[in-house]
Amino acid sequence: MASQPLPKVELRELGNTGLKLSCVGFGASPLGNVFGPVSDDEAIGSVREAFRRGINFFDTSPYYGGTLSEKVLGKTLKALGVPRSEYVVATKCGRYADGFDFSADRVTKSIDESLERLQLDYVDILQCHDIEFGSLDQIVNETIPALKKLKEAGKIRFIGITGLPLGIFTYVLDRVPAGTVDVVLSYCHYGINDSTLEDLLPYLKSKGVGIISASPLAMGLLTESGPPEWHPASAELKSACRAAAVYCKERGNNISKLALQYSLSNKDISSVLVGMNSIKQVEENVTAAVELATNGKNEKTLAEVEAILKPVKNQTWPSGIQQS
Ligand code: NAD
Repeated sequence: MASQPLPKVELRELGNTGLKLSCVGFGASPLGNVFGPVSDDEAIGSVREAFRRGINFFDTSPYYGGTLSEKVLGKTLKALGVPRSEYVVATKCGRYADGFDFSADRVTKSIDESLERLQLDYVDILQCHDIEFGSLDQIVNETIPALKKLKEAGKIRFIGITGLPLGIFTYVLDRVPAGTVDVVLSYCHYGINDSTLEDLLPYLKSKGVGIISASPLAMGLLTESGPPEWHPASAELKSACRAAAVYCKERGNNISKLALQYSLSNKDISSVLVGMNSIKQVEENVTAAVELATNGKNEKTLAEVEAILKPVKNQTWPSGIQQS
């Protein structure tokens, strides 16, 4: 008897790029051992499972694990032999293990290094990584023009910017010619504990940029096992998220599933990037997306968890340098 085809995640258009991204994107920072060690077998297994279940979008950076994430992702994509036109790879520039450098020189060299580690001829999206740590005027006047040249040279297809404080996006998008920045990647701002990206969505759409939201599990805060040591949240926020996770578990629900479904439910967001490092996580996250599309959100549990997190709602942490 023929086996049933696996349910797959939906694809969504990314702004004006013409790309169609899986609504669940594969965050590859865990492949750089950022959340604990990951073997080659686990890396290949997770990426293979991701493809099997319709995930076509992979996000990495030279910064993750000091280039390890790019290397492991490159090796894995090569081992799987999936045709290049069937997946979208985003990497970043300007943030490295030894610090930040958004100069035209550095980002121009950086893409060649990334392409070598990824074993690719081009990346679909090159994003300036965590621009709040650089001069935003340098991003506008030097870094993005350098990335435009890389686009013309065919090394990258689209240009993106990433970072935590939402004001960085308006600063840059208000100062570059329309259509220069194709993609914005925001993180930790569209989840159950912090949904401040929502207010910015109309503006971003008016600028025609594709919107990617990362870290729906708030970098581990909204998981049963909790965040890594380095997590920058306050003790109060960590404790409220822990209480929410326990509350869900005691009632047979899973906080990560609830959190991912919350982020996925806004279709103005083209892809929600979740960090994954095991076949099990890929299965769980794809299942969460498929169930959301079929049954909608678990409104009752969501309301209860939102009540637990209300005292810390939209609490964030400082990131970046003081802009002059
Ligand atoms: P996340 O919120 O996706 O959480 C990742 C953690 O959750 C990891 O420990 C992972 O093992 C765990 N996890 C994943 N699925 C799970 C499940 N079903 N059940 C329990 N635990 C689960 O945070 P993240 O990894 O920081 O963000 C996702 C991706 O977004 C990153 O890998 C990266 O690609 C991107 N990102 C980019 C930026 C930036 O550009 N500045 C910042 C943050 C994230």
